[in-house]
Amino acid sequence: MPDASGQRKLTVLVPFLNEVQNLPMLYERLSAVMATQPEALELLLVDDGSTDGSAEWAAAKAKEDPRVRLLRLSRNFGHQIAITAGMDHAGGDAVVIMDADLQDPPEVIPDLLAKWREGFEVVYAVRRSREGETWMKKFLAASFYRVFRAMAKVNVPMDAGDFRLVDRKVVEALREVRELHRFMRGLTCWVGFRQTAVSYDRAARHGGETKYPVWKSARLAVDAITAFSASPLRWTVGVGLVACLVGLLWSLELVVAHFTNPGGYERGWVSVIAAIVFMGGVQLVSIGMLGQYVSRIFEETKRRPLYFLRDQPPTR
Ligand code: UDP
Ligand code: MG
Repeated sequence: MPDASGQRKLTVLVPFLNEVQNLPMLYERLSAVMATQPEALELLLVDDGSTDGSAEWAAAKAKEDPRVRLLRLSRNFGHQIAITAGMDHAGGDAVVIMDADLQDPPEVIPDLLAKWREGFEVVYAVRRSREGETWMKKFLAASFYRVFRAMAKVNVPMDAGDFRLVDRKVVEALREVRELHRFMRGLTCWVGFRQTAVSYDRAARHGGETKYPVWKSARLAVDAITAFSASPLRWTVGVGLVACLVGLLWSLELVVAHFTNPGGYERGWVSVIAAIVFMGGVQLVSIGMLGQYVSRIFEETKRRPLYFLRDQPPTR
């Protein structure tokens, strides 16, 4: 809501896990940037179970500067849930989501705000370049976005991380989505509204270590795909059909060989083993894929709250 003077408010939502080396610098740079903008700032820091003193730093800052708010989750719930908690509590007319490690430079925010003032409701910050990341991570990220777009039929922009601005309307829409395995990048795209992108150069981490090793990124990728697409299940049907067809043709060949070349069909221990191993593999992969979906159904049916706040009694 614009306040009495008509000034609108921007919430900058920063989920963090052990970022004590980065938060002070983030605060400084953000304050400097927002001093040049007409919107008021609300810096909403979401502590995702930090143990390195960053939450204590944030708590002290929140006491000293009324623009800063701290939300502490009761333990580490993961980046996507921390963003969700922030969305649930953001008070601004627009929300910018950004990492705490200064890989998303606060200096890009005026570009995001400019597009928002033009009337766009989702403004992605798309990476023109990525500094200080391994080629493996860049390669996997680039492949993931392409596969996800093809499978999920959701046009997530290539190479956009979580850094983006969303309007209040989008925040309200996202609050309605309570699924457990959430891929916020996909969801902000899926909700619709007027969307656009600005590009920026992604910096290297300012301090500390990445909290997203390759295995965690891979898990997020699986969550993203299973939450948005059932096509892996359809593929298993396709693979199964192809395997049946190959088996059928092979049997036909054996029958024909029986008559045209009596005695010759006994060749093939190796091919029998190959067939068994191949079919075993296909079946296990299919069951595994099915299992991914079933386990997600199981987790959704429990209907647990997505997170708890450390300093407040549970509300839902
Ligand atoms: N983060 C979090 N909870 C987690 C893991 C990460 O809140 O369980 C935060 C982290 O502090 C950072 C952001 O999510 O602000 C992105 O993490 P990171 O920079 O480690 O990921 P990368 O940029 O290396 O992909
Ligand atoms: Mg980072």
